[in-house]
Amino acid sequence: MNLNINFQEKFEERHIAPNGQNVPEMLRTIGVESIDQLIEETVPSKIRLKSPLALPPALSETAYLQRLKQMASKNKVFKSYIGQGYYDVITPNVILRNVFENPGWYTQYTPYQAEIAQGRLQALLNFQTAIIDLTGMEIANASLLDEATAAAEAMFMQYSLRKNKEANTFFVSGNTFPQTLDVLRTRALSYGIELLIGDYKTVVLDNAIFGGLVQYPAADGSIDDYRAFAEALHTNGSTLGVIADLMSLAILTPPGEWGADIVVGSSQRFGVPMGFGGPHAAFFATKDAYKRNIPGRIIGVTIDAAGNYALRMALQTREQHIRRDKASSNICTAQALLAIMAGFYAVYHGPQGIRAIAERIHGLTIVLAEALRSIGYSLQNDTYFDTITFDLGDLCGPLHAEALNHEMNFHYNGNSVNISLDETTTLADVKEIIRVFAKVKAKTLADIDFGALEQALQSPIPDQLQRTSAYLSHEIFHAYHSEHEMLRYIKSLEAKDLSLCHSMIPLGSCTMKLNATTEMVPLSWDAWSKLHPFAPIDQVGGYMQFLDELNQWLSSITGFAKMSFQPNSGAQGEYAGLMVIRAYHEDRGDHHRNVVLIPASAHGTNPASASMAGMKVVVVNCDERGNIDVADLQAKAEAHAANLSCLMVTYPSTHGVFEESIIAVCQIIHDNGGQVYMDGANMNAQVGLTSPATIGADVCHLNLHKTFCIPHGGGGPGMGPIGVAEHLVPFLPGHAVVDIDEGKSISAIAAAPFGSASILIISHAYIAMMGADGLTNATRFAILNANYIKARLEGNYKILYAGANGRCAHEMILDCRQFKQVGIEVGDIAKRLMDYGFHAPTVSFPVAGTLMVEPTESEPKAELDRFCDALLSIRKEIAAIEKGGADKTENVLKYAPHTLAVISADTWDRPYTRQEAAFPLPYVASRKFWPAVGRVNDSYGDRSLVCSCPPLSEYAEAAV
Ligand SMILES: *Cc1c(COP(=O)(O)O)cnc(C)c1O
Repeated sequence: MNLNINFQEKFEERHIAPNGQNVPEMLRTIGVESIDQLIEETVPSKIRLKSPLALPPALSETAYLQRLKQMASKNKVFKSYIGQGYYDVITPNVILRNVFENPGWYTQYTPYQAEIAQGRLQALLNFQTAIIDLTGMEIANASLLDEATAAAEAMFMQYSLRKNKEANTFFVSGNTFPQTLDVLRTRALSYGIELLIGDYKTVVLDNAIFGGLVQYPAADGSIDDYRAFAEALHTNGSTLGVIADLMSLAILTPPGEWGADIVVGSSQRFGVPMGFGGPHAAFFATKDAYKRNIPGRIIGVTIDAAGNYALRMALQTREQHIRRDKASSNICTAQALLAIMAGFYAVYHGPQGIRAIAERIHGLTIVLAEALRSIGYSLQNDTYFDTITFDLGDLCGPLHAEALNHEMNFHYNGNSVNISLDETTTLADVKEIIRVFAKVKAKTLADIDFGALEQALQSPIPDQLQRTSAYLSHEIFHAYHSEHEMLRYIKSLEAKDLSLCHSMIPLGSCTMKLNATTEMVPLSWDAWSKLHPFAPIDQVGGYMQFLDELNQWLSSITGFAKMSFQPNSGAQGEYAGLMVIRAYHEDRGDHHRNVVLIPASAHGTNPASASMAGMKVVVVNCDERGNIDVADLQAKAEAHAANLSCLMVTYPSTHGVFEESIIAVCQIIHDNGGQVYMDGANMNAQVGLTSPATIGADVCHLNLHKTFCIPHGGGGPGMGPIGVAEHLVPFLPGHAVVDIDEGKSISAIAAAPFGSASILIISHAYIAMMGADGLTNATRFAILNANYIKARLEGNYKILYAGANGRCAHEMILDCRQFKQVGIEVGDIAKRLMDYGFHAPTVSFPVAGTLMVEPTESEPKAELDRFCDALLSIRKEIAAIEKGGADKTENVLKYAPHTLAVISADTWDRPYTRQEAAFPLPYVASRKFWPAVGRVNDSYGDRSLVCSCPPLSEYAEAAV
C-alpha cells in the first residue's frame, strides 16, 4: 500500500496519450534510444531554448476549476441593456447541452470530407436558409467572423464589383456602431479606399463613390427608409451594403425588398451567448449574380454517387486554395459551430416563435419609451425596434449612478444614453428600468399609468417598413418544435458526422488534439458567458485577470513582449500582424516598404492576407528537399531591399521540417530592413523546445484552435492572437469603444476588443493544467507520434521531405502521386479511409497529390496503429491494382466510401466482396462508422448552385 496523501492526478497524463508501456516500443520502431535523442535529431540545437518556460506550476483539473471559480466571482453579471451589436439571449437548453456542450459537434473539423459531414452541412444549410429568408436576399454564406469584419468584406466586394474602376470612395453612414466603423477604417486604409463617413440623407453621390453602407436599424436605434438612397446609388452605378439586425428582420421589411445588394450582420441574437465579445457567427447575404464574389464558405446541394441528395461545400476548390494573392478574402476558419447554433435556434422556434420573440422585445421597448416619455424624458429616435436613445443633459450622471446601484448597464455617449432590450427582458425588468429613470426625476412607478400604456401600444415602425413577407417557410422550420423532436433531430444530424468522438483526425497543419472537458466546462458559466464586451471595466475583473495571465503565458511561450487577442482566426492574425508591421515602417518614415517575401510552400492565407494589407507579394522558391532556397531568398531580399516590408514564414515549415537555415533566413530579412512574420500554425512542434523569438521572428500569430486546444467546431470558432517583440508593442490594435490603446495603436481588426474572449478560457485552462513541463512534453510526444507513424509507413508510402537526420517534426507528407499510374488519385485514398472509420489527412496541401498527416500528442499508440494499419491495408489494395489483380476503375477505392445502403442492397455486382468493402480490417467491426452518403458529386452541385434547403419532395426522392 502506498498511502501517499499528497497524491494528485496530473492532467498532463490525461492529455498526452502514449504512456510508459508504449513508449519503449515506439522508440524501437523509430530506431532511437530515447525521446531526448529523437528531439536532438529533430530540432536544430542552435534554436533550442536554454531554460524552461516561465509558467506557474501545473494545476490538477479540480484545482484549476476552483481557481477559475474564484476568478469568475470578480465578474459582475449586471443586466445588460448596452446593445451595440451584443444582446443577452436565452439559449434553448436542448441546443446548449446537445450542441454547444457536445464534443460530437464541437470537435468536428471543417466539412471538406462531405460524406462524413452531412449533419453539419445540413445544419449550416439551415443557417443559410434562415439568413436568406430573413434578409430577403438570394444567397448566403455559412458564416464570417463578426459583424464588423463582415461589413469590411461587403465593402471589399462592392469595391471589386465597381463598374467605374476610377471610383475609390466608399460612403458609410455615421449612424453605424463605432466598432464597425473602426474595422472599416483599418480595411479601407490597407486597400487604399477613401472612407467617407457621413449622413446618407445629404451625401452627394458623385462618380468617385463606388458604394454605400448603412445600418438597419441604425446605431441610435432609429429605423430609416433607405429606398431612395438605394435608388440613388444604383442610378450612380454603385451598390448598397446593409448591416442588419437579424432579430429585427422578423418584423421589419427586409433589405432585400428595398434595394440592398449585400446584407451582413451578426447572428448572435439567435441563441448565442455574448461571451464578452464572442464567438458569434456573422452572416453575409447577397444576390445570386454575385455568388462568385462571396467571401467564406457556401454550403450547396448536390447528389452522391447513387444520385441521392447530398451536401458539400460549394465552389470548394476556389475556397480550399484561397486564391493566394488574387484572393478576395482570407477567410479560412469562420464560426461554423455558432452558425449551427443560430440555425438550430431558427429551427426550434420556427417563424411564429421568432416573430413572437421579436414582437415581445419590440412591445416592451414601446412600453419603456412611452413610460419614460410620460415622465418627461424626450426620446431622440421616433422610430425604433428595440433601442431607444435619450439625451439626458445633466441628469446623465445621476442616472448612471442610479443604474449601477440597480445593477444595470446602459450605453452612454456623452450625455445621451442608449437602452437596448432583448429576448431575456421581461415587463418586470422594464419597470425596474423605469423606476431608475423615475427616481432621478424624484418620481415613482405610481406616476405612470401602465394600464393605459398597454392599451395604447402602437408600433413606431413606419408602415412601409413593417414586414409583410413570409420567412422560414421551409418544412425544417416547422417540424421540430417539441423538445423530443428537436433532440432527435440534433442527434440524427450529429450521428452522420465523424468527430474526435470516433477516431483521430490526422489533419496536417490543423492539430486536431484533445479538447479536454475541463477546458470546456467553464464556457457555460454565466460569469463568463453573460458579459457584454463593452461592460464597465470594474465589472469584468475576472476577465481582466485571466486575459492578463494568458497574455503573460503566451508571451513567455513565444518569447515575445506582448500579445493582442483581437484576431478571431489565424488568417486575421496574419492580417493584424502585417498591419502592425506596416504601421511600424510608416512610423519610421518608411512609407514605401510594401514588399512581402513568401515561400512557395506557404499556406494560401499568407499571400491573401498580404494582399489585403495592401502589400506586394514576391514568392521565394523552395529547394527539392522542401526547404526555403536561401540563395533565392537572399537575392530577392537584396533586390527589394529598398521596399522590403517583411517575410512571412511558417516554422517548422509547412513541409513538416525544422529548417536549419531559419536563423540565417531571419538575419537576411533584418539586414535588408524587413521584419519577420512567423505563421504560428505549427507551434505544436515548438512549445517549450524553441520559440518564434528564438528563431528571430518579430511577430507571430498563434492558432489557439490548433496548438492551444480550442476545438475546431466544424469550421470555427478559433482565435488567432498575435505576439510581438518589444519594438512593435506600441502598434498593437486599439479599439473605438474600449480603451486598449498602446500609444500608436492601429485601428481595430475585429469588432470586440479581445476577439472571441470567452473561448480564451480553453487555452488558459490548458496552459494552467499542463505547466511548463507538461507543455514541453506535449511537443515532444507530438514529435514522437509523428515519427512513429513515419517509421511504420516508410517503405510503403514515400515520405516527402525530412530534416537533416531523416526525422519529421510533428507532421509528415505522404506522396501519393505515383499511384496515378494505376488511376488512383489522392482523393480516392481519402474516401477509402472513411470505410476504415477515419477522417482523411490534409489532402493536397502544401503539395498537390499528397496527404499530410499530423497525429498530435493526444493520440494513443493503439489509435496510431489502427490508422497505420488502415493506410497499409489501403496500400495493399492499390498494390492489387498495380499487379493487375484488381481492375483500374472497378475497385474498392474508386467506389469508396461505401454506405450501409450500398452494402445491404439486394443486388451486389462489384468485383470485391461486401466484407472487403465495409469491414476491411478486424478492428473496423467493433467501431464501424457508416458514411451517410456515397461519394459526392462536386461539379453537379456547382453547375446549378442551390444554397438553401430545397423542397421536401427532393428529400423524398433521396430516400428511395
Ligand atoms: C490553419 C492555417 C492557417 C489559417 O488559420 P485559420 O485560423 O484557419 O485562419 C494559416 N497558415 C497555416 C500554415 C495553417 O495551417
